[in-house]
Amino acid sequence: MKFGGTSMAGTERIRRVANIVRRQQAAGDSVAVVVSAMAGETDRLVNFCREANAMYDPAEYDVVVASGEQVTSGLLALTLQSLGCKARSWLGWQMPIATIEAHAKARVDTIDASALVAAMDAGEIAVIPGFQGVSSDWRITTLGRGGSDTSAVAVAAAIGADRCDIYTDVDGVYTTDPRIVAKARKLKAVTYEEMLELASVGAKVLQTRSVGLAMKEGVRVQVLSSFIDEDSPSADDLPGTMIVSEAEMEQILEDGEMERQHVTGIAHDKNEAKIILTRVPDKPGAVAHIFEPLANASINVDMIIQNVGRDKGETDVTFTVPQTDLARAQALLEDQRSAIGFNRIITDSKIAKISVVGVGMKSHAGVAATMFKALADRGINIQAITTSEIKVSVMIDEDETELAVRVLHTAYGLDASDEAA
Ligand code: ADP
Ligand code: ASP
Ligand code: MG
Repeated sequence: MKFGGTSMAGTERIRRVANIVRRQQAAGDSVAVVVSAMAGETDRLVNFCREANAMYDPAEYDVVVASGEQVTSGLLALTLQSLGCKARSWLGWQMPIATIEAHAKARVDTIDASALVAAMDAGEIAVIPGFQGVSSDWRITTLGRGGSDTSAVAVAAAIGADRCDIYTDVDGVYTTDPRIVAKARKLKAVTYEEMLELASVGAKVLQTRSVGLAMKEGVRVQVLSSFIDEDSPSADDLPGTMIVSEAEMEQILEDGEMERQHVTGIAHDKNEAKIILTRVPDKPGAVAHIFEPLANASINVDMIIQNVGRDKGETDVTFTVPQTDLARAQALLEDQRSAIGFNRIITDSKIAKISVVGVGMKSHAGVAATMFKALADRGINIQAITTSEIKVSVMIDEDETELAVRVLHTAYGLDASDEAA
């Protein structure tokens, strides 16, 4: 069981969580619980780091930001004990959860769950702070923002759990963010492949990496709400959204429990920024000169457009990077100005990426055309396009994000019927 920040925000909410955990144990299950920091706490800690040192050392950043989860794991163990349950916390270094690669974006390598499983077998509830691990030289690491989801899936895989229930502040995965579109519909199931794509283009209900890990390890994941009454159905009745394999999905569709749409969901992302380099020489090697230094600095480039050459053998190159990397990217490109040979750098952070995702589009033509037409009808201008087998993304002005998501939700027939909404 994993509980997110809103579910852990304060002792009252933690008591509600403790009761959900106790009910699950009372139903006969052995339980490990992964918790997030209280809502807003990690942002607060990140700001302290920025104030202390703008060029902060990621290893010390990890020491600071991992503390939010230490607090909530201890508090949940205390609350469970107050309800008469046996419980203890297991910090990242105590299990341990060994991670590799960089601080602030570490990846789980191995988890030694033997002591934890022994304690669970003896009837103790294991409470694990999410987001944190330990490096090979025994320093604390964190898994990137939203990383408690990944902690939960990794622990579930390590202990061979029957299921990994991700409790959050919405009762499942919806056709789009239900906080933006009131008519969003809850999905009974969504495939790993689609969830991976949705998460990676902005549906932050699950951290992208947690979905990839669940797919690789075959962990059964359910997303459901922690804001429930005492008498609401048990998690075993699957009241939330199950993340399933394509084969399981075929079965669900065959049983008539769901209808496959061409588009399963729509996501938006306001965290990218656009860079345009003007008058780049139109010759072999020009783009390599642009993207090599960015790759070496671990800056992820997402959408790329190279315009048709203008006169005099020159072309404009447009691409996006995460907003947090924009200043660094700009500095690196300025450094390479003579090697690349561009004229100007133009940047814009006020952009958004809107994506439609669905396995159904593999076998249906016209999904992209529907998108372009629906946006055009509302006068929304498309600045860039990318596609994959199961996704179409467009870049638009940030101010038009909500409108675009709503218009597309209607255009693909995803709106819940008014009586159901
Ligand atoms: P937690 O703190 O529990 O990890 P998050 O804030 O990380 O919670 O994720 C839950 C939020 O994800 C919801 O409140 C919702 O606004 C947002 N969200 C975005 N897209 C979707 C979607 N397609 N379905 C459900 N929730 C979504
Ligand atoms: N507390 C961390 C964050 O806010 C991890 C998480 O909640 O998943 O990013
Ligand atoms: Mg989250």
